Formats: sequence, structure tokens, C-alpha cells
Amino acid sequence: MTRIGGAGKLFGTDGVRGVANEELTVEMAVNLGRVIATLRNGTIAVGMDARLSSPMFKSAVIAGITSAGCSVVDLGLVPTPALQYYVKCKKDIAGGVVVTASHNPRQYNGIKFIQDDGREFTRSMDEESERLYLSKSYRIVSWDRVGKVYSEDCKRMYIEGVMEKVDVDLIADKKFKVVLDCGNGAGAVTSPELLRRLGCRCIGINSHPDGTFPCRNPEPVKDNVGFLMQCVRDAKADIGIAHDGDADRATFVDERGEFVPEDVMLALMAKHYVEKNGGGIVVTPVSSSKCVEDAVKEAGGKVVYTPVGSPVVAETMLREKAVFGGEGNGGLVFPEHLLARDGAMSLSRVLELMAEEKKKLSELIRDIPTYVTLKAKVPCKDKLKLLEGLKNAFPDADFTDGAKVEYEDGWILIRPSGTEPIARVMAESKSESRARELLEMGINTVKKILT
Ligand code: MG
Repeated sequence: MTRIGGAGKLFGTDGVRGVANEELTVEMAVNLGRVIATLRNGTIAVGMDARLSSPMFKSAVIAGITSAGCSVVDLGLVPTPALQYYVKCKKDIAGGVVVTASHNPRQYNGIKFIQDDGREFTRSMDEESERLYLSKSYRIVSWDRVGKVYSEDCKRMYIEGVMEKVDVDLIADKKFKVVLDCGNGAGAVTSPELLRRLGCRCIGINSHPDGTFPCRNPEPVKDNVGFLMQCVRDAKADIGIAHDGDADRATFVDERGEFVPEDVMLALMAKHYVEKNGGGIVVTPVSSSKCVEDAVKEAGGKVVYTPVGSPVVAETMLREKAVFGGEGNGGLVFPEHLLARDGAMSLSRVLELMAEEKKKLSELIRDIPTYVTLKAKVPCKDKLKLLEGLKNAFPDADFTDGAKVEYEDGWILIRPSGTEPIARVMAESKSESRARELLEMGINTVKKILT
């Protein structure tokens, strides 16, 4: 089973993930449906991304939920945040399930549970789900008490929910020319319409749902969006926008056709929110670039760091009453809308900021400090030994997630992976040579501890 920093045997930081029909099976999906029905005990919303195996898993989840006596509202193919927003707004919905493997390659799928306020399940809720699943102590009801299934369309509610939060007239006035790359994912059913309703001239590429992902890998990183960058240049567009497979993330290309690093977008939006609020807290994982903290501090705000993973970012935002939060992968969280990553909200706020400041995207990011961030993987079979060794090697480090060691001119982060038998080493500095030196230092420390 493929997991990312998991709660245990089954759940990772993003629910249960694995290769369809190998690691994640229909039988598992049925029982996971029973688990959430047992825990939530009310009508559950179920949605899915555009993957080939998603209708199969969605049917299995619905069978499981109804067999445990709960009713299901089937939302069909939707972005993950659209389902989350629906669950948040509908007071009579007890929770949600999304069938999605987000940015993972096409053979994967996943099942993620949603709380009644639209947030993802927290780590402790996933642990409880896993206990219920493994001990098979979920409910199965008698024939006359099985749940009902009905369908609803939540796309309009989601699009209008986003539009309510931004200044539509201000954006529409600019008649932005936008190239949108949905990566053939679930964003294709909402983002093109949203852009049209924001008055943009929208050129769509890869913008029909296709679970074979024929044009690019669903992760919207720089290496995968070369065609988008080319299209922005060719069309002389104002901006390029790319989604991941379930459209909770958005990455951006500026009007010159240059990819804007995810951390830089996070810093730009965080700074904007802090300025607007006259201060406030921004929540982000320890792996985010220092440029976020620099921008937030300059605007008079404060950064609170969390372990890596979006549920813990949302949980911390709620606790700290944060004005903004997000991950350095294009997953931005707008608390006035939803305590979860939201691709449609991201693109709308970026367009609004361009309109408000009357600036091109490349001009907006000019003031964000740039750092060189390097990453490496080192084989690591003994995570406990690594963590113990790190405590001895760096007693003054920050142990929020692995060990983060701060220097005057940079930092190193060493974390054991939850997915694979490796340690992830990150290093950052303003100078490339210093970043490389710090990375080497991190790699050597891991090797020394493990020998
Ligand atoms: Mg995603």
C-alpha cells in the first residue's frame, strides 16, 4: 500500500492510496464505506475524480455506506474542494468521501474522508477509521434499513461560492486572457465555467476529463506543464493556470510564459492576506521555502509551521485563527471559503490581485525573495534510528517533522518518508553553492547515523 506519512497500516496523510485493483481493491472500498457510515451516522456525500477506476470505487463506497444504513448523495465527477464545500454548506450532510488519487499517476486511486465542516479527516480520525476497518467493527444493517441513494449537482453551488468571495466586476473589467490546463482532471467540470463567469477569455488545454491522462502527468509541476508555458507565450495570454487531477491545487505561469514556483505563489498570497488583515497568522509546513516567512514578516504577520500534510495545516489554521495557509505545492487554503486546499479559489484570488494592483503576474512576484531549494533522497530502513540520531546530532533543531536545522544563511530539513524506505533531505539558501553544501551536510549526516 502506498502511503504518505501514514496514520498506520492503511491511511496516509491523504486517506488511502494505491494502485487500483492491486493495492486498493473494491472490497476495501466497500468496507471503507461502512467505516465512514459507522463513524458519521447520517447522509454522506460521495464524489470522484476523472480516473478510469473512479466510477468502480465510487460504486463500491456507495454500496458500503448504504449497507451500513446511511444514505448517500452522489455528486458524481467533481473537484475535491467542490465536494468539501458542498458538505460544509449543507447542514444535513454528516460527512463526505472523495474517490481520488489527486496528483498520482494514472494507475493509482484513493479514498479520502471528509468531516461535516468540509475539512479532511484529521490524523486521529484516520487512526480511528483504521482501527474500525482492521477490527471489522463497522455496522452492517438488516435488509429493511439499508440507505437510500440520490444524486445532486454541486458544481454550480461551488462556482457561485467562489464567485461570492471575490470582486467579480473588478476581474471581469480586465478581460484577462487565460490559458487553463486542467490536466484532463476533475477541474475540467468547473474551472472553465468559472473563468467564463469571471469575464475571462479562456483558452482551455487538456480541459476535458480523461482518466487515461493522455497529455500530461496530473501533477502540475514545472516539468509537466511545458505545453501550457508554450501556449501562454503563443497566445500572448495574461496568465496560465494548471490544476492537479482533483483540482485542489493550482500552479501558475506568468505572462512571459515562465513557471512561477509554487512557494513563490504561496508567499505572494500569504503576504496579500496579511496586508489585507493588518497582520495575522499564516500556517504552512516546515518544508515550505523561507520566502514565505520573509514575505509574511515583512507584511507584519507571523508564520506557524506544521508537519507536512494538508489536514494538519487546516487543523492548525482553525486552532490559530489563521488568516491564510497552504503548502508549497500549489495547495492554498482560503479560510473564509473552506479550510482545505482549493484550486478554483486560488485562481480567482490571483486574478483578483492582478486586477486590484493593476500589475502583471511577473510584476507581482518581483518583490518575493528567491531562494535555491534542493532535495535529495537517502535510503533509510530504520526510521527510529534516524530520528534518534538526528536528536543527538542536532539537539537544538526544530522537531516539528523530522529535524529542521536553521543556519544564518539557510536551513536543512531531514524527514523519514512515510511512503518509502527513504529519508528526504531538503536544503535551502539564497546562494546555490551554500544550498548544495547544506544538502551534502544533510545527506552525510543521514548516512553517518544509519551506518
Ligand atoms: Mg490534489
